[in-house]
Amino acid sequence: SGINFDHYDDIPVDASGENVPEPITEFTSPPLDELLLENIKLARFTKPTPVQKYSVPIVANGRDLMACAQTGSGKTGGFLFPVLSESFSTGPSEIPENARGGYMRKAFPTAVVLAPTRELATQIFDEAKKFTYRSWVRATVVYGGADVGSQMRELDRGCDLLVATPGRLNDLLERGKISLAKVKYLVLDEADRMLDMGFEPQIRHIVEGCDMPGVEDRQTLMFSATFPVDIQHLARDFLSDYIFLSVGRVGS
Ligand code: ADP
Ligand code: MG
Repeated sequence: SGINFDHYDDIPVDASGENVPEPITEFTSPPLDELLLENIKLARFTKPTPVQKYSVPIVANGRDLMACAQTGSGKTGGFLFPVLSESFSTGPSEIPENARGGYMRKAFPTAVVLAPTRELATQIFDEAKKFTYRSWVRATVVYGGADVGSQMRELDRGCDLLVATPGRLNDLLERGKISLAKVKYLVLDEADRMLDMGFEPQIRHIVEGCDMPGVEDRQTLMFSATFPVDIQHLARDFLSDYIFLSVGRVGS
């Protein structure tokens, strides 16, 4: 995939909801953090894609988001940029949340990104590594079909932004290795694919059956190529006063 920069400004974007913030036209501070801007420049991203133009100020204004956009529209930056910006400028929590406690260390990520597959989780993690360069934020990825022990050792080194597939995250939650109590941002990437793969019970357990803060005490961003009824139900249950963004032609 990749972005066709000759045409992407023509992609129609429709934003609906109460008080939709004005889209940004450039990568600038504010609302983006200066260090993040340097990393965006290093990645040679010269201007935001349509989904990024809208999602950055929406998230920076503390709003929840349901975004429907096709593959290749730049959704990863759409959630990483505002989430990392806020994290960079806030700084690490005063309490060492990833502290050793008892006989086992527990990770307390402040941002959790759920993705359907190992490949997608790894892609998001790779982007997160690029954009957290020289920052205090540590990104970690966990997925199934790989050794859980080495993932647990990675978590022991600290975890601020966690990228995970639903099954492996539940496994690590059951092992007591991760707490979701400090989550400020929850991102569901490719939500329609996760539901197609049968992950709805796993996702609901993570969001509603563990120690994740409630819908009013976290910010939730959902991304999906389509907006069928099962995604609409997740949006109803996981989002509060959200802005609905549709980029390009969206199926249902
Ligand atoms: P999606 O998640 O919507 O499929 P991605 O976030 O994976 O899209 O982005 C698709 C490709 O475009 C990636 O290679 C990414 O690095 C690149 N990209 C994203 N945003 C920009 C931008 N603002 N400028 C240049 N390239 C970008
Ligand atoms: Mg993507």
